[in-house]
Amino acid sequence: MTPSHTDGFATRAIHVGQGPDPATGAVVQPIHLATTFAQDGVGGLRAGFEYSRSSNPTRAALEECLASLEGAGHAFAFASGLAATTTLMLLLNPGDHVVYVDNVYGGTFRLFDKVLRRYGMEFSAVDASDPANVTAALTGRTRLVWLETPTNPLLRIVDIAAVAARAHAHGALVAVDNTFASPYLQRPLELGADIVVHSSTKYLGGHSDVVGGAVLTNSADIAEHVRFHQNSAGAVPSPFDCWLLLRGLKTLPLRMERQCDNAFTIARHLSAHPAVRRVIYPGLPEHPGHELAARQMGGRFGGMVGFEVTDEKAARRVLSRLRIFTLAESLGAVESLAEHPGLMTHASVPAAERYRIGIAGGLIRLSVGVEDVADLIADLDHALTD
Ligand SMILES: *Cc1c(COP(=O)(O)O)cnc(C)c1O
Repeated sequence: MTPSHTDGFATRAIHVGQGPDPATGAVVQPIHLATTFAQDGVGGLRAGFEYSRSSNPTRAALEECLASLEGAGHAFAFASGLAATTTLMLLLNPGDHVVYVDNVYGGTFRLFDKVLRRYGMEFSAVDASDPANVTAALTGRTRLVWLETPTNPLLRIVDIAAVAARAHAHGALVAVDNTFASPYLQRPLELGADIVVHSSTKYLGGHSDVVGGAVLTNSADIAEHVRFHQNSAGAVPSPFDCWLLLRGLKTLPLRMERQCDNAFTIARHLSAHPAVRRVIYPGLPEHPGHELAARQMGGRFGGMVGFEVTDEKAARRVLSRLRIFTLAESLGAVESLAEHPGLMTHASVPAAERYRIGIAGGLIRLSVGVEDVADLIADLDHALTD
């Protein structure tokens, strides 16, 4: 079967890039471990493959599938989300300026602040949930606007189309880290973004068993640049990791549907719980980005939920009493996870900055999995009782 771009998302997730193997008929994409490929005469590549850092058939299958799902002309797979971001940032030169969303993923902040600054790039953080803040931060040297939406862990929603229009008017490119939504819920390139970045470690892989990343674009110029640096810097994923991701992608729509349903049910339940001060979930009407999220994410709101209890001591107690939710960092997989942003994922953000942006001591972040939602709710209720 040859899938076409008019097939539905779930059909493409299962079939694009991975028709039956022409040599054997195997219905599953083989894991091509070969590092080098025989040539018919010097330079005579049989199928375009020469050396596996430059390109590899299993990776090519993954890249084709990812491109189809994001609606991108070009996709590039990397060894991790941060490897993808690092390689993309090689697009910039010393003196270039980047505007980025202020509660950006902690590892991205560290890369910008502790590594890329040393190479002469400059960075300004803004609360991009008001696009006017992005406009105010743009300078003559701004090359890139870096967005995440929903953000981590506060699930703020950024209007991708509005920010892209403002950035483009200043000649800046827009990259969106689409890890939290996945292409099943949100396709930033269709909203005007120039580049999408993923940590495929999360929803795309979906089983907490592979670290990976991707860069996607419709621009031939950007693609040329990323292809050159993917090969020059060499932060590529192994064929086995690519295969695990292809396997994960097949169930992305099923997992996402269930995770969105479970997260919505849990968010509503926690909103009515006396021990919970506040629930952060874009699906709740009181969330400030609710209407925008409904438009931008196709009426679904993702699998991440935040909630606040009285203080850090209460949060530690809840986390120590959970039985089904595992206390761990990361997100997006079939099993439910819980963590304390202030003490775990966002511990490297200075305390004053954490409080300023709203990461309170009592904040707990849930990555809701695909278990029976009644069990998840019973687990939370038990952990929250006195
Ligand atoms: C995990 C994550 C990253 C980094 O990806 P790695 O695969 O861990 O390198 C980047 N952005 C977001 C939003 C993430 O959750």
